[in-house]
Amino acid sequence: MAAPDGPEDRLRRFATIWSRAVFPVTSTSLTRPEFEEQLLPSARRLREALLARAFDADTGRAVGAALVEAHCTDPEALSRALDCVDAYLVLYCGEDGPQEELRTRASRLQHAMAAGYAQALRERTLAEQEAIAQAALRAQGVVAQALHASEARFRTVFEGAAIGIGMADLDGNVLQVNGALLRMFGISEQTMHGRNVREWTHPEDAPQTWKLYDELVRGEREHYHLEKAFYRPDGTVLWTNLTVSLLRDADGEPQYQLALMEDTTERRLLNLRLRYEATHDALTGLPNRTLFFERLEKVLGAGEKQGFGLCYLDLDGFKTINDSLGHAAGDQLLVEVADRLQSCATAPGEMVARLGGDEFVALTTGTETRDEVDELATRIQNALVAPVRIDGRELTVRGSIGIVEGRAGEHNAAEVLRSADITMYRAKSAGGNRFELADPEADARAITRHGLTTALPAALERGEFFIEYQPLVHLGDGSVRGAEALVRWLHPQHGVLGPDRFIPLAEHTGLIVPLGRWVLEQSVRQARAWRERGGDTDPVRINVNLSPCQLTHPGLVQDTVDILERAGVEPQALCLEVTESALIGADDDLLKPLRRLAEMGIDIALDDFGTGYSNLANLRRLPVSVLKLDRSFTQGMQQFPADPVDLKIVEGIVSLAHSLDLAVTVEGVETGAQAEQLRILGCDTAQGWYYARPGPPERLHELALADATG
Ligand code: C2E
Ligand code: CA
Ligand code: CA
Repeated sequence: MAAPDGPEDRLRRFATIWSRAVFPVTSTSLTRPEFEEQLLPSARRLREALLARAFDADTGRAVGAALVEAHCTDPEALSRALDCVDAYLVLYCGEDGPQEELRTRASRLQHAMAAGYAQALRERTLAEQEAIAQAALRAQGVVAQALHASEARFRTVFEGAAIGIGMADLDGNVLQVNGALLRMFGISEQTMHGRNVREWTHPEDAPQTWKLYDELVRGEREHYHLEKAFYRPDGTVLWTNLTVSLLRDADGEPQYQLALMEDTTERRLLNLRLRYEATHDALTGLPNRTLFFERLEKVLGAGEKQGFGLCYLDLDGFKTINDSLGHAAGDQLLVEVADRLQSCATAPGEMVARLGGDEFVALTTGTETRDEVDELATRIQNALVAPVRIDGRELTVRGSIGIVEGRAGEHNAAEVLRSADITMYRAKSAGGNRFELADPEADARAITRHGLTTALPAALERGEFFIEYQPLVHLGDGSVRGAEALVRWLHPQHGVLGPDRFIPLAEHTGLIVPLGRWVLEQSVRQARAWRERGGDTDPVRINVNLSPCQLTHPGLVQDTVDILERAGVEPQALCLEVTESALIGADDDLLKPLRRLAEMGIDIALDDFGTGYSNLANLRRLPVSVLKLDRSFTQGMQQFPADPVDLKIVEGIVSLAHSLDLAVTVEGVETGAQAEQLRILGCDTAQGWYYARPGPPERLHELALADATG
């Protein structure tokens, strides 16, 4: 019977794969199976760290350091080890844990490994340098004797050495070199002879390099130590840790110079790569927040003439794409966006970085940045216009941009970024897909999320919330059919805050349930008041937004019934708006309360339709009776002639909706041309600034009366 495939076997298999991958690039003297034994404890530690409750970076670092210990000092060895962890750790050691979390954990472990590796390598280098310096001192005696003896003696002492060793006279003429040095330079012994040390200048020589040399050959210094680059005959560069010592003859007179050099080229490359990885985003290859911050700080620390402009971009609705199409599609989208952004900022002094998630930033520097940054923002917006094709779908990408412009010396990098972030947020609150300029006054009112979150519960008790109503107009005859209730917060310090500022926070803390109930109660009462004042005219219906958390709350149906009964309002007068993204992938349990409400006669509207990429055919499953087309569709109709693709899409949606017996409402109608266009396309009702901005309840009454009499 075959042995059962337990965790221990799987761990062993992981160690085998790891050792096979790394072994060929190590300088270990072990055999491959011995090397595997050596890796096994590290593999075990990685598995423990992967499955541990809390993340422990120390374990990752220790494993990185152990690699150096195991003679895996070739940069390729680290790279292969990381690849192995990336591809196999979760697979062989992840047990049945949540894949997403395990993957995140594994990638954090890789970072810790790389850090521990770099640290250990640095320490080792320091130790080696120390050893070389010691060797040089010892060599002084040995070589002096060797010279007095014979050239053959010199060879036997130095030929086998792993470090490069060379000797020259005090005029710099090369006399002797060992094989290691020849191999490092890629030069034959003949070519090396007759060369002069002074020829070996390199543009990256540290300023003191040749001063130290002169002091040494003049007998004023016994030795020196530095990092130095050399050109090889083929034009490539050799980096070394160089120690040069002065050799004196038996009478103590300076006679020769002895150089010991260690090839550090690979290690420098590794450091460069580690630095690259620490400062670049792995997904898009763009500079990351760290590098951007460094760069911005440099710009802000330059002389007063230095100007800068910064565009802070956050994609609109990215979360929806991620949630509905999956992370792989989300990643593809980010990569495409990164490419497009990069092509917007190619001039010298310009830079694009990814700050994290769907947040990017573009920087421009120079003396006349005011116009430049506006142009940059426009270029970015234009670059996002063309839809992105992913898995055969065309995704529309939109973004909100916050612009900050200024001079060096006024603010520090953190302040500038914060201001850009706040400004971006303003663009987002204004509906997104636009840019806004930083405004110091608005900044001053900027509120931390934390401050708002903690103030929310008291605000509800103190009655700081109020509702504005925005009419829903029938496209056929222009009459007011209803109104959407939109909640606002009259904050004692910050003034009126829009829902985008606090609804997400209320959702996060659960306060949305009582707040939503309050909005529903107020709006239903308002509907009743309109009806009483409206007399014979058709009753105005009320639309109320429901958050996903409210949908899952067990009291939803009963609360709604109670509220309607208490106000004496028919269910038919109420429409609950649920976003498309909240219903994507909804199972029957989630849909049950909505279905109950729909059966009672309450309308359910699918809000922001078209942003969630839900399957149109799926609509049949959902208890909805209204589609609310997202504002992005109407935006395509702002110009004349309207974007033919947008027209076709809307036309298709409308006819499908009608065939499913769904009414179609459009949002964000800002011009008469749009309204006309949408009417022709067959939409039923519309909402937008063209008719009215959200406002106090009295205003709606006036509007409704005006169209009843006019
Ligand atoms: P929504 O449901 O999509 O609401 C429509 C938003 O579009 C409103 O923003 C409205 O002011 C804005 N708008 C209306 N006409 C136009 C126009 O012609 N052009 C442009 N550019 N914008 C227009 P608002 O009031 O900031 O609300 C934002 C979101 O906050 C709402 O989006 C809704 O999802 C949420 N929300 C508002 N009130 C409530 C509430 O009581 N409960 C819950 N759960 N969410 C709410
Ligand atoms: Ca809505
Ligand atoms: Ca909407």
